Amino acid sequence: MVNGTIVNYYLHCKRQCWLFYNKVNLEDNSEDVHIGRILHELKNDDKQSEIAIDNIKVDKITNEYVVEIKKSDADMEAATTQLEYYLYVLRKKGIERKGKLQIIEKNVTDHKIHVIEYSSSMEQKMESLIREIETFLDEEIPPEAVLKKRCKRCAYYEYCFI
Ligand code: SF4
Repeated sequence: MVNGTIVNYYLHCKRQCWLFYNKVNLEDNSEDVHIGRILHELKNDDKQSEIAIDNIKVDKITNEYVVEIKKSDADMEAATTQLEYYLYVLRKKGIERKGKLQIIEKNVTDHKIHVIEYSSSMEQKMESLIREIETFLDEEIPPEAVLKKRCKRCAYYEYCFI
């Protein structure tokens, strides 16, 4: 079943998406995941606990916004599409919100915020993307690993290249 993380990974790296979906779990000590854990703890300190609705988990929901928090703006397309997916799923349940993407970078006090408005074109894009991802996840084997700059920060780096 598609969820926000799968949408994000599909945009970021299809191989990562396939490995994650097929539960190729790796013990990971990468800097990226470590920062992720710290962020998670910080959020909990702020009492901004994750909210789970069916198969989606959002960082925070207010009367106006669904808030998604990221630790970098390295892949804005993936982060934005993940948030659009949340808006889409919530809208299907009658919950109408705008999206707010907050980038909380290490050593940066001025956090970047991107606001996303729901639209009918976004809805169409999401419906077709979800179908595309479902078809992709039915594949028997993952796509080949192609080394990119981002791979060094990925939990699957050793699995893919060592
Ligand atoms: S190491 Fe690179 S190719 Fe392998 S899953 Fe991660 S991002 Fe994709």
